[in-house]
Amino acid sequence: MTAGLIDGKAVAARVRAALKDDVSAFIARTGVQPGLATVLVGGDPASEVYVANKRKSTVASGMADLHQHLPEDASQAEVESLLRRLAADPQVSGILLQLPVPAQLNAAPLIDLIPFEKDVDGLTTLSVGRLAQQKPGLRPCTPAGVIELLDAYDVPIEGANVVVIGRSELVGRPVAQLLVNRNATVTIAHSRTRNLAEVCRAADIVVAAVGVKGLITAEHIKPGATVIDVGIHRGPEGLSGDVDFGPAAEVAGLITPVPGGVGPMTIAMLLVNTLRAAELQYELAGAAATA
Ligand code: NAD
Repeated sequence: MTAGLIDGKAVAARVRAALKDDVSAFIARTGVQPGLATVLVGGDPASEVYVANKRKSTVASGMADLHQHLPEDASQAEVESLLRRLAADPQVSGILLQLPVPAQLNAAPLIDLIPFEKDVDGLTTLSVGRLAQQKPGLRPCTPAGVIELLDAYDVPIEGANVVVIGRSELVGRPVAQLLVNRNATVTIAHSRTRNLAEVCRAADIVVAAVGVKGLITAEHIKPGATVIDVGIHRGPEGLSGDVDFGPAAEVAGLITPVPGGVGPMTIAMLLVNTLRAAELQYELAGAAATA
């Protein structure tokens, strides 16, 4: 292996340590303890593990765990009424509706009930628009984590040629938007892209968010390029990514491993977003009081 390793675990630990200090300072300054309301509908085992992790990390950062659990057969109206209550509750800084929701529910209108200043996942229509217009707001956690990793390793973004592979609302589109906002020249490749390897070989930075195990390999990478692997695949041999790590690491300059790359950044950025949500609400309340 010739590439340097981007250590997401170490970066996430630094982000979380700094955040803990920032939370203490915010509480001392405002008297407000930021709080995160995770909302879990039903008992999907993977979702239960994810939510438990988010709750534990919230408390470890000095913020309040305001978790809400609804039964598997909850109706659209019941989830709506809970989200409306959380939206209006000043104790609640951030709201996270854990996805996927059970089949009887329509997720999109539920997500859009979360006010932009509490939208710690950054997935509401308003948050997506505010990102596109570069207005203050909360950015999706995994894409924000990708930017944080590039910055942590001083990878130049401005003017860089970046190829993002994947155009999902969760990862591909927002990470491309964040990179454009940082003045990168961004190409979004997807399932209909012709000559994917050739397109990728023009990139100084490749961000793989494809959901296809090991699709990106040495032939996709320009020598010395930075490779960020967002993919997560569970197999008998453990976790792996969208990048065929061994061959890719022979060509890349810097590369994220899976596990230990982008993965740990997602919860770290959720915690950052929860504090940022509390700050946004404090600013908005101050602006309303002086208006
Ligand atoms: P998705 O399935 O919603 O989107 C995949 C995208 O890849 C699509 O836009 C599609 O056009 C494109 N694509 C599919 N096959 C392709 C091909 N052969 N060539 C080029 N493009 C192709 O997936 P997603 O939600 O964006 O997630 C992508 C990956 O990232 C998954 O492995 C997921 O598990 C992982 N993920 C990780 C984290 C994390 O915290 N690290 C968070 C979210 C998602």
